[in-house]
Amino acid sequence: MPEKLIIIGSGPAGLTASIYAARANLFPLVIEGFQSGGIAGGQLMTTTIIENFPGFSKGISGPKLIEEMRTQALNFGTKMISEDIEKVDLSKMPFILTSSSGQIYETYSLIIATGATAKRLDLESEKKFFGKGISACAVCDGALPIFRNKPLAVIGGGDTALEEALYLTNFGSKVYIIHRRNAFRASAFMQKKINSNNKIQVLWNKVVIEFLGDNLLRGLRLKDTITQEESTIEVSGAFEAIGHKPNTSFLNGQIKLSENGYIITQPKSTQTSVEGVFAAGDVQDPIYRQAITASASGCMAAIDAQKWLLEKGFY
Ligand code: FAD
Ligand code: NAP
Repeated sequence: MPEKLIIIGSGPAGLTASIYAARANLFPLVIEGFQSGGIAGGQLMTTTIIENFPGFSKGISGPKLIEEMRTQALNFGTKMISEDIEKVDLSKMPFILTSSSGQIYETYSLIIATGATAKRLDLESEKKFFGKGISACAVCDGALPIFRNKPLAVIGGGDTALEEALYLTNFGSKVYIIHRRNAFRASAFMQKKINSNNKIQVLWNKVVIEFLGDNLLRGLRLKDTITQEESTIEVSGAFEAIGHKPNTSFLNGQIKLSENGYIITQPKSTQTSVEGVFAAGDVQDPIYRQAITASASGCMAAIDAQKWLLEKGFY
């Protein structure tokens, strides 16, 4: 028997969708992921304290927040399977999904909540200091005590990098923007904003070649991309803002994606280019990328899927 609803992904988007769908008696099956596109539970499993998810006045650890959401989903009758989906056939109804172990799943509706992975510099020293001074999210981590009144750096030259640098001026004593070229990719508006902020210093034509420190990040070794000259700067925080990669490769071109690889959904809806397939969370969100926005769109996707199943007589 095909499932009524399968949800791929068990971050805040997938788990919130499953809570709503389970409460609507859709008996959703969550394929929670294993290693493709992160780990089961999603990006929050890789962080410490979450201070901006409403409802937790003292903050809550990322893994604990996910554990609570997961338990809530199970309590309402969600089924969970720890697998990755490797390929999908969305050309006919029911849709067919194939997992990495070769298991086949059939479903009348599908919510894709597979998130996006922050690109990393892939330096050996990065592994040592990730979470100990290196972060991929200034909004998430910028207010942490280790960054207060300390020199900080943002790596990248897009809108995210400039936005993060501006945000970090609220906490750091100074913010360097390290960019590999001599021109920003970011919009003119954002450039104007950073130019008028005297806490920000741009280091043009520079790449990070090594993260330095002891048990915490203390500095960066840089290389000039024109002269090849090396230098070091002291920083307590380095925020990588070099783009995100949405986890969509398993879709193999069957869903319409934006130029930068995000799933396109209809305005004020989670409907994708394929009827009966909905998308929620970071996989369709190049802008906000927060736990709360992922959860909110997961809720929308469950309601959209329920409505669709009802209209088609599958519910
Ligand atoms: P994700 O959390 O990325 O979950 C994606 C899920 O899909 C995972 O379960 C993964 O296993 C699964 N998956 C991927 N591919 C497949 C596949 N092929 N088959 C099956 N499953 C698959 N946001 C905040 O609001 N506050 C914070 O303080 C905060 N801190 C953060 C700290 C860090 C270090 C990071 C990286 C992010 C942080 N964020 C924070 C952002 C937040 O984590 C994301 O916005 C949120 O997790 C997105 O939720 P999601 O459900 O869309 O995707
Ligand atoms: P992005 O536009 O892809 O920019 C990534 C930046 O990182 C680029 O400047 C790139 O350099 C640099 N980079 C990439 N790989 C690198 C590497 N290995 N080493 C060093 N630098 C590297 O990504 P984004 O800034 O996250 O923005 C994504 C999308 O969201 C964009 O469309 C953006 O406009 C949008 N956005 C909008 C807002 C807003 O409107 N307020 C805010 C955030 C994001 P190069 O320039 O040399 O390629």
